[in-house]
Amino acid sequence: MALIDRFGRKHDYLRISVTDRCNLRCVYCMPPEGVPFVPHSEILSYEQITEVVRVGAKLGIRRLRLTGGEPLVRKDIEKLVSQLAAIEGIEDIALTTNGIFLAKKAQALKEAGVTRINLSLDTMDPEKFAMVTRGGDVKRVLDALHTSIAVGFSPIKLNVVLMKGVNDNEVADFLKLSMEHPIQVRFIEYMPIGHENDEWRTKYLPLTHVHTICDQLGVPYGPTDLVYGNGPAENFRFEGAKGSFGLIHPVSEHFCSNCNRLRLTADGFLKPCLYWDEELNVKRALGDEEALTQLFNKALEVKPENHEMANALNHEAKSHKPTTRRMSQIGG
Ligand code: SAM
Ligand code: SF4
Repeated sequence: MALIDRFGRKHDYLRISVTDRCNLRCVYCMPPEGVPFVPHSEILSYEQITEVVRVGAKLGIRRLRLTGGEPLVRKDIEKLVSQLAAIEGIEDIALTTNGIFLAKKAQALKEAGVTRINLSLDTMDPEKFAMVTRGGDVKRVLDALHTSIAVGFSPIKLNVVLMKGVNDNEVADFLKLSMEHPIQVRFIEYMPIGHENDEWRTKYLPLTHVHTICDQLGVPYGPTDLVYGNGPAENFRFEGAKGSFGLIHPVSEHFCSNCNRLRLTADGFLKPCLYWDEELNVKRALGDEEALTQLFNKALEVKPENHEMANALNHEAKSHKPTTRRMSQIGG
């Protein structure tokens, strides 16, 4: 069985948001006042998530990513990981985290079945980090990075959202990190998810900036395809580097023709595309394998060809209605 949509794209990857709650308030992800959290009673239980994944796996889902909000604020997340790892057909479970709770949970997560970690770190400057995350302690994320290397997650990816006037002067430092450690540093363009206002537009910076800084460093580098699960990233490596770096440019160059992913929100909606409003209510289909199968198929039927985020940048008309959810309510 394979999940193939109208445009011939095969879907084998499900990103699961396990909570919309978070212990940080990153400026690009949540408004200053925060977002109202969904009551716990409306969040999918571990059993319900497992039921959806079991059906997805029968249809061709092979890889999972747990995200949020912050996945590590959800109680006993390792239990969910073990349940998912036991499903026939699931080959790989990754986790995206802000890292604040990761150092103390890393070993348990590894034992439960998490193989790969994406750690979000936009700046290594303590003051700037506190400003971007509205109160976070960068030391805890750096500790989490070193613990993740020691525990043996592979690969470990560092997500860096590039923001003009905020961290564009740290690109060289992040590139050096990719030379010194066995990690992949991934620069990500700032996306207008749930906010298309001028704040976003003034901070958005295309990733051509990273190539400019690479050239200034003067160390030879070139494309590499050695990064497992690289998804939409274009990957490069400096000569002699222990790690690599990747560029994810959803706005300036969308990569939708290779999109292989569906998303499940914490409050139980299957989202065919990160950017658009369209989503399908999973709760109504729970307890009925046929209905869940139909829901996966429906998600593929309505999935648009691409997300047109560039239109938001250029104030151009769009063919669908953009989501009103913020990133923390979808899962990134
Ligand atoms: N809390 C976890 C974390 O921060 O890693 C997981 C959820 S977070 C929504 C997932 C990823 O989305 C993070 O790497 C974050 O930097 C990224 N993100 C959030 N808002 C974004 C935006 N507007 N543009 C680009 N990336 C964004
Ligand atoms: Fe929380 Fe992650 Fe959003 Fe930051 S990016 S507010 S850590 S969900």
